[in-house]
This record gives sequence, C-alpha cells and structure tokens, in this order.
Amino acid sequence: KAPAEVFDSNPNNVSIHPKTPIRNFELGPIIGTGSFGIVPIAKHRDSGLVVAIKILSKAHVAKTKQIAHIVQEKKILERCSKSEFIVRLFSYAQTREEIHLVMEFVPGGELFNQLRIYRRLKNDIARFYVVEIALAFEYLHETCAKPCRVAYRDLKPENVLLDGYGYVKLADFGFAKQLGPKSIGKRKDGGGGGGSGGCGGAMEELRQKVGFIENEKAYTLCGTPDYLAPEVILNGGHDESVDWWALGVLLYELVRGIPPFQSEEPWATYQKILKREFTFGPKEPKKAKKTKHKSGKKETSTTTTSGSKKKKVKTDEGNGNQNDKEGEYEEEEEEEETENAFGFTKESRDLIRKLLTVESANRLGSTYGSIEIKNHPWFRSVDWKLASERKWRKPPIVPQCPRSEKELYAMLQKIAEEEGFDEESSARNNTNFVELSREDEAAFQALEDDYEGANDKNENEIDNIITVET
Ligand code: ADP
Repeated sequence: KAPAEVFDSNPNNVSIHPKTPIRNFELGPIIGTGSFGIVPIAKHRDSGLVVAIKILSKAHVAKTKQIAHIVQEKKILERCSKSEFIVRLFSYAQTREEIHLVMEFVPGGELFNQLRIYRRLKNDIARFYVVEIALAFEYLHETCAKPCRVAYRDLKPENVLLDGYGYVKLADFGFAKQLGPKSIGKRKDGGGGGGSGGCGGAMEELRQKVGFIENEKAYTLCGTPDYLAPEVILNGGHDESVDWWALGVLLYELVRGIPPFQSEEPWATYQKILKREFTFGPKEPKKAKKTKHKSGKKETSTTTTSGSKKKKVKTDEGNGNQNDKEGEYEEEEEEEETENAFGFTKESRDLIRKLLTVESANRLGSTYGSIEIKNHPWFRSVDWKLASERKWRKPPIVPQCPRSEKELYAMLQKIAEEEGFDEESSARNNTNFVELSREDEAAFQALEDDYEGANDKNENEIDNIITVET
C-alpha cells in the first residue's frame, strides 16, 4: 500500500475494457495540451479509476498528415502494457471527430519540472532516471515487438513523467516507430536509404513473415532539436540507436542543468550536434598541494579545486570535431565519483562520450543493444534485475502530489485556470467539423487493428520510416 504522501493512481490495479467509449468516463480538468488536442483527467464511471485521456482532433491530425503517427502511437502503446516504465494505454476509442487514448494517469508531472526545481542533479540521482529510461528503451528496442524493434525517437525531460512514488513513466509515443528485425551485418556508414545490405536469406524470410516493408527514401525530421542524433539531421536513415544518443543528451542535461547542444536557432543547434561541439566544463585551475607518501616523505602534486587529483588537463572546451575527445582529461588518479565544476564525474563523462558518438554504428548500444549500456562502469552500483522490478532503489525525488482525489481535482482545476487551458478554443469543441476524405477515413480505420492481428498494411504510409540496416 502506498504511504500517505504518495498518490497511487491505480492502487487496486484496475483494468478497463480496451474499447471503452468516452461516455463511460466523467471528464475532469485538463492537465495538458498536446499538439493535436487536449489531455483531461477523467474518472471511469464503473470502477472509479482516474485516468488521463488524450483527445485528438481527427481533422487536425489529418490536416497535418499525422494519421500514421497516431496509428503507430496507439499500436506501440498497446504492445507496452507490461513495461513498468512506459505509460499504460488502458483503452482506445474513436468517434467521427475524435480519437480517445485512455491512459493511466501519471500524477507526478514531468521530470522537466523537477529539473526546474533542482536546477541540476547529482550523478547518483541522475542515475536513477537514466536507469529507468534505459530499461524503457530496452523494452521498446528488444522486447515489445520482437523480432521487430521500436524506436522511441522523442526523448526529452518533458516526456519523462513521474508517478506518485517518483518512478519513471515514459509518455508521448507520437514519434515512436516500429522497425523491422535487426539485420545481422552491420554497416559502418550509419545506415542508408533502405538498402538491404547485410541481410541474408533467413533474415529476408523473417522480414517477410513479420510484414516489414523496406523503406524507399522517405523521411521527415522529427524529435526536438536539442536531442536529435546527427544521422537524423543528415537524413541518411536511422534506427533505434538514436535513442541512445538522446539518452546521452538527457544524462548531460540532468547533470549540468542545460543540454549539451543549444542555440537560439535550430539550424545552429544542428551545426553543433554535427560537429559534436560541447564541453564538460572549463579547465580546472591546478594548485600545488602537499601530499604524504607512504614513506612519510612530502611531495608536491597537482590537484583540482574539487579535490580530485589530476595529472594533466588536455583540453578545456570541447569544440573539436568528432575525432577530438571533448573536454577530455587525463584522469587516471581521479576518484570515480568526484564531480567537476559542471557536475560530471570521470565515468559520466565517459558514458556521455560513448553515447554521443556521431557515427551511429560505433555508438554505445548500437551493436549488442542495451547490454552495452548496462555494462558501463557508471552503472556499476545498479542491480538491473531489481531495477527492472522497481525494487533497486527508492526514487530519489517523491513529487509533490495531492493526497486525495478531491485535492487532486482542486489542484488540477487551479493549474488549468493558471495555465489558461481552454477547452472552448481547443479542437474539441470545434463545431466546424471538417469532413474527412475517404483516404483519411480509411487510414483512421487502421486504429481498429489489434496488435496481435496487426497486418502492417499501413506501414508504407508512414512518411518517415527508418531504414533497418545499421
Ligand atoms: P502531444 O503528443 O500532443 O505532445 P502529450 O502526449 O505529450 O501530447 O501530452 C501533452 C501533455 O499532457 C504532456 O506533456 C503531459 O504533461 C500531459 N500528459 C499526457 N499524458 C499524461 C498522463 N498519462 N498522465 C499525466 N499527464 C499526462
């Protein structure tokens, strides 16, 4: 049972029928606005379960040519109901005007809000979130659609929600994409537009069996500029290793408080990403300090201000190209958990460097998947088995949540008023309903496919299919 200060949105582990219509819910205050509509909380009339409903306007979705994305989001969330770290989709329904995705209500808000409060996190605290996100990615890449993989493609602190206890729930699967099975041969050119190089006969058979359709050259830039992997910007096709890149960006942002690649203009951010231009912090001034040898003899050595011993600092600003090792120190003598002025330890720097590898084929995680990440020394203290059951550690931050449903509704109502969420002006109450074209109607019909029976007939409609070859 949850302690008094924790809001457990589903204490009795209630499930609701996967096709429950919206009339079976009593709608409450709006808790978020997405790009295609609103997200109110709602109460299931029969069970009393409080849920969040993503209400999308079909007209808007069709107009912005995002039908295939919504279909993917629904299908992928359906496959992820067993993951502890991914927001659960309880049910789905559609009317003539709207799509309703009924999701578990995640009451702790976005990790982004905690970052605003704490400004930056100690390595040990950041590790908790990185571990849970890595486990969510492991599930997406390696388990939920086996033998296919799912790339999430939109990691950022705004999409990492926290439940009442403070555990991670990854949300917003609008950019997630199912890919075909991983091919055996690996190319060093970081992918490419849809060739089938490296794919043997058995693999080809497997592809056909699971209905994977090879992509031509279609592609759309998606994701948030700060978190985009170089291969996404370069338009050369990408795979799930874009998520490991984004995890490196997130780890950096959690520890330092700002992302590694940032500019006023997206194009300038892209330039920095492509040049891998970031820094682990300024050169730390050295000062002489007397240290005692075992023999009792005194000797002078150099130390940093943070107290860790460093022999020599090679570079300060990481503004080199990808062959340079940004912000690299010679640090054999540094204690592993000593944080520098920007908050980085020797091992977090090493992990970030390996995740932020421009060449996707050489990026940590791109060859053997999540195991490469899990084996990195920065995670030495992690018991991955316990972590996957949410038993490794207590969450370091318990978000401030209301303690009762009444308190919850009052709080959300207040936020909705403050934030100016306005249902009237949202797509929801738009009486000028635009008739959908026959093709759009047919495309929305794909939402009706259950994932078990999913024939991926709509796969070829997806505008930004990624190549499978890596
Ligand atoms: P979009 O894909 O259109 O950006 P999101 O799925 O990101 O929409 O939802 C918009 C906002 O609504 C999120 O940033 C989050 O604050 C809130 N939200 C979405 N889903 C939930 C949920 N299950 N529980 C709590 N809040 C949610």
